[in-house]
Amino acid sequence: MSFVRPSKDYSFYGQTTSLCETCLKLVPAKIVIEGNDVFYLKRCHEHGAQKTLIATDAAYFKSCKDFIKPGDLPLKHQSRTQYGCPYDCGLCPDHEQHSCLALIEVNDACNLTCPVCFAESGQARTEQKSLGEIDAMLETLVESEGFPDLVQISGGEPTIHPEIMQILKLAKSKPIRHVMLNTNGIRIARDKAFVEELAALKPGFEVYLQFDSMKREALENIRGADLRKIREQALANLEEAGISTTLVCVVKKGVNDGEIGDIVRHALSYRCVRGITFQPVQDAGRNLNFDKNRDRMLLTDIRREVYSQAGEVFGADDIIPLPCNPDAIAIAYGLRDGAKVTPITQLIPKAELLAIAPNTISFEKYPALRDRLFDLLSLASSGERTRTVLGDLLCCLPQVEVPDDLGYDKVFRVAIVSFLDRYNFCIAAVKRSCIHFVTPGAKIIPFDTYNLFYRNGLDVKLREAARVAS
Ligand code: SF4
Ligand code: SF4
Repeated sequence: MSFVRPSKDYSFYGQTTSLCETCLKLVPAKIVIEGNDVFYLKRCHEHGAQKTLIATDAAYFKSCKDFIKPGDLPLKHQSRTQYGCPYDCGLCPDHEQHSCLALIEVNDACNLTCPVCFAESGQARTEQKSLGEIDAMLETLVESEGFPDLVQISGGEPTIHPEIMQILKLAKSKPIRHVMLNTNGIRIARDKAFVEELAALKPGFEVYLQFDSMKREALENIRGADLRKIREQALANLEEAGISTTLVCVVKKGVNDGEIGDIVRHALSYRCVRGITFQPVQDAGRNLNFDKNRDRMLLTDIRREVYSQAGEVFGADDIIPLPCNPDAIAIAYGLRDGAKVTPITQLIPKAELLAIAPNTISFEKYPALRDRLFDLLSLASSGERTRTVLGDLLCCLPQVEVPDDLGYDKVFRVAIVSFLDRYNFCIAAVKRSCIHFVTPGAKIIPFDTYNLFYRNGLDVKLREAARVAS
């Protein structure tokens, strides 16, 4: 008599704690690999078994772990470890990263009501924070970070705040390296005097411009309005004023994922554009008619679309995991000459990427890198003075020396930022989150947990439920 033992049709790669997709309670999740796909297998004792795709490139998914580096911590924590993650935000001492990027929401009012809005802002909302409240939030961040790298003034729509210029000047008066204004671009398109005022905030100021599509149907799906003319006029005004701009593109499967290459090329037709951030829709806040099986776009999907649709700009090897939060953020950096981009991410020695910040990649230490870079840029490699870029904006990247005349205006980057939601939540990844909201209650809360639990008060209910269950 022979026995044939059954075997699994997947490889069991590991285990994490995720969320039940119905009640958002913490549940165990097996991480399994089937072919090139990675899934979570979850079980909630109330809502049963759930199987969720979390990556479509198993090799890239695994490689992210090789990029993990020691975290940089804040100078101060704003909460204590009491109930356990994710109910102690924050930042609590259990968190593994400081705030690489901090958002300050100055209002909930908006001049759009997008079907996709994690903040649930809109035309029916009227709340505007006072200058005093915003000052206190900025101070919370400065106390936590010392010299914060990057602050985004966000909303709602911050440009309709009656004191927006005072807010931006206030942020600029603090010891903050870069200040960005997050905007849907409506005021920038319509109010040239306002754009001139913004231009006076240079240097160290940048606009983070919503730019999801160049097609009417996609814009109506994601933003509820045909914003094509607004976006083009906003870009034209920013170009004329010479204001550094990053485009931010929310990606929804079957809606605008086919445009990724065109958006990259379009961005490169503007001198003022320094890069694009692609974000899969985070299923939080207002997310009308979202269907898990139809609409979800994953980081690995977007990465593939970037190198498939815009391979002349960045190839697969140029788009690497960001060491401080490798599961959630992929980046590609290049130096641009007009619309031509010379990728540099893969030239950076991995040991330097993983070194404890701050570090500078000097040509003295890496002469081969200098020769390669200068060769790519068709420059003479002797006697040129150098300056550094790259880490200028992303504190977790090393500084890379470049020739003196290559400033920030010659940088072009693509970032893919995937926030955690009910589907892909991972208790390990959330502790590495480096994009945080500063709240009026003097808390600093990861983007992921703020939108999932804290913005809507769910943290209180879930914390209580977890306490009763234990
Ligand atoms: S997400 Fe971070 S700050 Fe929030 S509870 Fe977990 S470890 Fe603490
Ligand atoms: S996504 Fe931005 S522009 Fe749209 S409603 Fe929300 S805050 Fe306003």
